[in-house]
Amino acid sequence: MWPRRICVVGGGTAGWLAAMMLGDSARRGGHPCEVTVIESSKIGTIGVGEGTTAVFRQMLQHFGLDEMEFLAETGATIKFGIRHRDWRRLGHSYDGPIDDPHRVTGFEVNALDLYQVSRGESVGQVHLFQHLLSRNKSPFAVVDGRHIAVGPFHHAYHFDQALAGKWLRSKAKAIATIDDQVLRVERLAESGDITALHLEGGARVEADLFVDCTGFRRALIGPMGGTWVSYRDMLPVNRAIPFWLDIPKGEEIDPCTLAWAQGSGWMWKIPTQSRYGCGYVFSDAHITPDQAKDEIERVLGRPIHVRNDIRIDAGRLDRQWIGNCVALGLSSSFLEPLEATSIHGTVVQLMLLASVLPNPDDRARLAFNAASARQVDDFRDFIRLHYVSERRDTPFWRDVAGNLPPHLADRLAAWGGRVPGAADFAPFPMGLPHTDHHLHVPVLDGLGLLDPAKAKDWLAAHPKLRAQARAEAAKLTGEYKRAAGRAMGHRAFLDGLGVTA
Ligand SMILES: Cc1cc2nc3c(=O)[nH]c(=O)nc-3n(C[C@H](O)[C@H](O)[C@H](O)COP(=O)(O)OP(=O)(O)OC[C@H]3O[C@@H](n4cnc5c(N)ncnc54)[C@H](O)[C@@H]3O)c2cc1C
Repeated sequence: MWPRRICVVGGGTAGWLAAMMLGDSARRGGHPCEVTVIESSKIGTIGVGEGTTAVFRQMLQHFGLDEMEFLAETGATIKFGIRHRDWRRLGHSYDGPIDDPHRVTGFEVNALDLYQVSRGESVGQVHLFQHLLSRNKSPFAVVDGRHIAVGPFHHAYHFDQALAGKWLRSKAKAIATIDDQVLRVERLAESGDITALHLEGGARVEADLFVDCTGFRRALIGPMGGTWVSYRDMLPVNRAIPFWLDIPKGEEIDPCTLAWAQGSGWMWKIPTQSRYGCGYVFSDAHITPDQAKDEIERVLGRPIHVRNDIRIDAGRLDRQWIGNCVALGLSSSFLEPLEATSIHGTVVQLMLLASVLPNPDDRARLAFNAASARQVDDFRDFIRLHYVSERRDTPFWRDVAGNLPPHLADRLAAWGGRVPGAADFAPFPMGLPHTDHHLHVPVLDGLGLLDPAKAKDWLAAHPKLRAQARAEAAKLTGEYKRAAGRAMGHRAFLDGLGVTA
């Protein structure tokens, strides 16, 4: 039976997403349920985490939330993908658009990718988002005074984490909130289930299901026995120094995240409407935080004000759901922010959780834990592939080159430079969005890991499909160029929301 009382601990992005999504799912399913959020204004939130994936927009639509209001009130901008600079080699750049053109073609294999690769052309050309991204456009044209989407794909956002949290909080209906700190977890001796939480202010809060969204503190799942599966040996960076940069008034805002490879890691640059959220994620085995700051100041040619020094122990819990406690957000897993997997993972896990909560038995727990673990492991592998580079210019890049985890080396060898397709990636439970071929191919292509001759051979053996792919690629490229021509400029679109400084 759906839990009658759910207590979410933590008021960051994960906590408010959990409160809103579980509360709403209970209402829709006709399950009587009280949701309480305990958050501590003394502790605060992580204060970074500003790039999403397309799943965030799907979530807004699912909950009937207004996208324009969201953009206006959270200082958000549009994200069509990620621009990867200097990853393959210095001076080289490639984009990873996040739309999947195969969704509109009806091909059973990724024939468009194969066709583009066979001709030695970027797969991005057949992506609407590549055209919008390259021309700094928004996803909308104005028709009769209304914003009309120029394509069928879900875009993503960049936002100010604090404003997004506040907005989500304002949308969560009928949620009780308590500003206090959980000091102690009271548990049943026999089952180990949590019976109540003891707060600093003296209150004792009971519930049937407890959701741990306390970030790196893991205040609930820690005492429940969750243990950390570290990816330390597989992912090369372990520390981040976030900082902000101003966006000069009137300057165009790129509708993409910049992931810019540096000497010992990479820098993110994420535009909100009023500033860039940036940070250098690096390996502290190779440089100190002071050296990291110096390096970024040299690269940018200006001083930066470092806002924090965050240690990243990349990994995940062995089990996210133990007894009557589920960990979500940073308390359950974290990888470096490349590809914005964290908020995405939280939204997808909440969809999974909501689907099994009407019957939260051992089977449901096992299935949820297996799916969540697989999700994060797959994110890890996808992220690690970004580092398969020609760069050898610093000790960091030389070390990374000699340290590809064997299972990934095997996978690349098995693909043998061919273009991987849907069949190479097992579908995720409930058909939920995951890191499948449509995200891998632009990255592998950008890194020069796909072999045009292999794609050519494959198409030569399938001449009918090759002809269809050629016609479809020409049609879509033309269509998407015209759509980008119609679309409003990104900055003009944001200014039209009436909130840009
Ligand atoms: C450097 C960096 C960059 C990132 N970039 C991205 C990105 O681009 N895209 C992306 O998807 N994600 C990114 N993330 C991850 C993203 O920040 C998180 O997924 C997101 O902010 C959710 O965090 P959270 O809510 O789990 O934790 P937090 O924001 O840390 O919130 C924890 C909450 O728990 C409360 N709390 C803690 N202990 C207690 C207690 N004992 N009692 C009561 N309350 C308590 C705090 O008050 C707070 O409200 C990034 C993370 C880092 C570190």
